[in-house]
Amino acid sequence: MKPFDVYPLFNIEPVKAQGSWLWDKQGNKYLDLYGGHAVISVGHTHPYYVGKIMEQLNKISFYSNSVIIPQQTELAEKLGVLSGYVNYELFLCNSGAEANENALKLASFHTNRKKVISFSKSFHGRTSLAVAATDGASMQAPINKTDNVIMLPFNDDAALEAHFSDEIAAVIVEGMQGVGGVQIPTVAFLKKIESLCKKHNAVFILDEVQSGYGRSGKFFAHQYADIKPDLITVAKGMGNGFPIAGVLINPKFKAVHGMLGTTFGGNHLACAAGIAVLDIIKDEKLLENAAKMGEYLMVALRKVAGVKEVRGFGLMVGVELEIPCASIRNALLSEHNIFTGSSSDKNTIRILPALNIGEEELDIFLTAFTTVLSKTLVN
Ligand code: PMP
Repeated sequence: MKPFDVYPLFNIEPVKAQGSWLWDKQGNKYLDLYGGHAVISVGHTHPYYVGKIMEQLNKISFYSNSVIIPQQTELAEKLGVLSGYVNYELFLCNSGAEANENALKLASFHTNRKKVISFSKSFHGRTSLAVAATDGASMQAPINKTDNVIMLPFNDDAALEAHFSDEIAAVIVEGMQGVGGVQIPTVAFLKKIESLCKKHNAVFILDEVQSGYGRSGKFFAHQYADIKPDLITVAKGMGNGFPIAGVLINPKFKAVHGMLGTTFGGNHLACAAGIAVLDIIKDEKLLENAAKMGEYLMVALRKVAGVKEVRGFGLMVGVELEIPCASIRNALLSEHNIFTGSSSDKNTIRILPALNIGEEELDIFLTAFTTVLSKTLVN
């Protein structure tokens, strides 16, 4: 048997990683400005994180959700305090798509309705309703097509108002669109969604899978807008690479035994990883670092010739070039050993480093980026 070939691969085999650095089989060193797709939050192989997982692994790594798992309570309490959502409840699962699928399901249970509004350039995952709510026809199989999803233009208050009704179960929007090229919802748009959801008793779902967990410099990107969604989904940075995800749930939703469930969600090992991440974010003041380093990076990037626009908050940064970015990203990797991210916008590079990256590492990137871009513009 061999792996199902669904991913285009770089010809690189990392065998070791630490902080914001990776090493391949041949001993070459790489700077990680991509964080394995916004997943690495507290840095690769952080000693406290590794220690917590090892300690748990040696005690008990898994038992089903039919027994008391106190690590779930510890994780929920710490997440409540750090995120500012102390009175919300937490459903634990395993991936971003699963978190969104459960949030949409919960919204439908709660409202007894079926229609969902989502937006152009959005990405919510690859499972049935999550992918139906994603703006990407090539990812949707015929079985995923549904008339329950209404796809509206992003940041368009008037279109939203025109399509809202008492049939809407939920509106789902990303804190900042990631795959779409770091597109930021306006404060007015988020407030409009919030007020229309209230007016029509619909559920407001914030997908913070990529933009959450401190990446934006606040715990959640939507906290720049002073709104309070009913459901918030988290994944990626939550486990720093260990698969864990969750839905933060407003207490107005009533839990009924059996309505949601998962075999692996909230297992001992995943919780140990999740608790370690929260402890490190708090103790090392990573929200502050993400905000500060993000500002430093964005100010510098805006001065580089060939850069059209820089979008983002904290360490979720979209750099839109005047030209397609593929050759620039390839040169950064092959000539300077620097990983960056792409997006569905062919001109936009995504920068998603670990939240504890420093100025020194960002300077290495900025020098390489300026060199590569100026060389390309001259040719
Ligand atoms: N929502 C957002 C905003 C995402 O960026 C992603 C992953 N790129 C997902 C959901 C899906 O997460 P997963 O791949 O863990 O299912």
